[in-house]
Amino acid sequence: RPRVVTLGETMALVRATEIGSLRHAGALALGIGGAESNVAIGLRRLGVDVSWLGRVGDDPLGERVAREIRAEGVDVRCPVDADAPTGLMLKERTTASATAVLYYRAGSAGSRLAPEDIPPGWIEEASLLHVSGITALLSDSARSALSAAIDRAAAAGTTIAFDVNFRSSLAPAGEAGPVLRDLAERADVVFGNAEEIGLLHPGADVEDAAARLRAAGGSELVLKRGSDGAAVFRADRVVEAPALRVDAVDTVGAGDAFVAGYLSGLLEGLSVSERLVRANACGAMACTGPGDWESSPTLRDIARLLGPEGDPVR
Ligand code: ATP
Repeated sequence: RPRVVTLGETMALVRATEIGSLRHAGALALGIGGAESNVAIGLRRLGVDVSWLGRVGDDPLGERVAREIRAEGVDVRCPVDADAPTGLMLKERTTASATAVLYYRAGSAGSRLAPEDIPPGWIEEASLLHVSGITALLSDSARSALSAAIDRAAAAGTTIAFDVNFRSSLAPAGEAGPVLRDLAERADVVFGNAEEIGLLHPGADVEDAAARLRAAGGSELVLKRGSDGAAVFRADRVVEAPALRVDAVDTVGAGDAFVAGYLSGLLEGLSVSERLVRANACGAMACTGPGDWESSPTLRDIARLLGPEGDPVR
């Protein structure tokens, strides 16, 4: 029985293997990526039983999505949609340290997720439901599925984690803000960066936004600060932790690995500061390779990263 369930869209991911515009790219590598399945894989690597749900098209890329996530040990529930293709995402390495992402997902199978795709008992029997704001902006049916998932979790006493994950390619900020705020207010734990938190409560600082989320019934706001680490805002205190220093190759997916690290610590009963140390280590490791989730660490990888420097691994 999975302890964590998560749902969303996962796409095929095509990335240029060399630096430069896709205009001239000769070599491309094929993989997969999606915020929630990235978190699912991250959790699985940390020893958590987890299930991911998402629609895929009736095509080889859909098979690829299902196979890869399954191969990581995640329980996969993926209804096949015969009427829409699997979505696609292209990653361009514009410079040695910068990445641009292009999406081909409008009308995709993943965006057609619907409330009836969610199996009975799936959410009710889990300890934690993790969702993200991306799903809310994909389509009306995906937003309904997300909303139904949150309602079911709330009714069953399943903890709800929500990553704001605003994608400006899916909706303008002004339109997305109130939708994402409504979802955040229904969650127990909310993740976001400063820009995303600002979107929920325009004009408010993070502390203020955290207080408003608590007033709506949430318990903690986890602020992702990129290379500055992270902070958790709770009623009684603010806990901060610095980032680890790594040579970042591609920071896309760092946020998802971070969330997996934090949630695994929460489920294990770690203190807030211990969760942050683990989450920052996961985020840092995820930056060290080009894939969205491939560099997500195991507990052993984290121990190595946080251990004494310079000791060779034999
Ligand atoms: P994305 O949606 O692209 O994954 P995000 O905005 O959700 O990103 P970030 O704040 O960029 O999340 O990164 C999440 C976490 O990953 C940070 O809080 C930090 O722990 C770690 N991290 C990110 N970038 C770096 C970096 N350059 N060096 C070390 N750690 C990093």
